Amino acid sequence: MNNKKILLVEDEPGLVVTLSDRLRNEGYDVETASDGKQALGRASAGDVDLIILDVMLPFKSGLDVCRDLRSQNVTIPILMLTARSQIVDKVVGLKLGADDYLTKPFDMLELLARVEALLRRPAPSGASNAAYQSGTLRVDFKSTTVWRDTQKVMLSAREFQLLRYFIEHRGETISREELLKNVWGYESTPNTRTVDVHVAWLRQKLEDDPKHPRLILTVQGLGYRFAG
Ligand code: CA
Repeated sequence: MNNKKILLVEDEPGLVVTLSDRLRNEGYDVETASDGKQALGRASAGDVDLIILDVMLPFKSGLDVCRDLRSQNVTIPILMLTARSQIVDKVVGLKLGADDYLTKPFDMLELLARVEALLRRPAPSGASNAAYQSGTLRVDFKSTTVWRDTQKVMLSAREFQLLRYFIEHRGETISREELLKNVWGYESTPNTRTVDVHVAWLRQKLEDDPKHPRLILTVQGLGYRFAG
């Protein structure tokens, strides 16, 4: 039995009931918040393992909540819920540090699969030291903090795990399937595009010139190679 705690942030009462019932049936502890302010308070208080965050909320949008949490260095995985018409929000959400998103209306089994994948910790690797440095890039694995020069870089939990995996396997060619399996915990391969999107965000945040990356290189037809 897992006793992971999920914070569900949604203002539609019907959906709150349906979702929390289902999640509790799966063995999760569920806390709910119906607006952005409440959500920030609960999430910053700690002991939450995952946040399901609706974008359309009263007072403070899900996007603002996401950005505020990441800027406070809260690295709890965030699954964002967007409406079909909010394609822009989806992109902005990932940029602000959400780890994954689902478009409403969604299939309940799909939601549970995403939740499970986000909660699964990546396999611990003995290879990682406490810190890593290459050029202007500096990573502290203990505090999960990343700097470029003196500038702190905001990464989502998934982006950080991806960066860590790259660093631990630097110099190796890594396929998208391998990344999905070891960083995302996906057994089957639902969509390798997820990897490309996250690599693109990492490059935006870490590379001097994201269009001509020097850290995370594309290996044509095979995957990626970390050259730091
Ligand atoms: Ca809503």
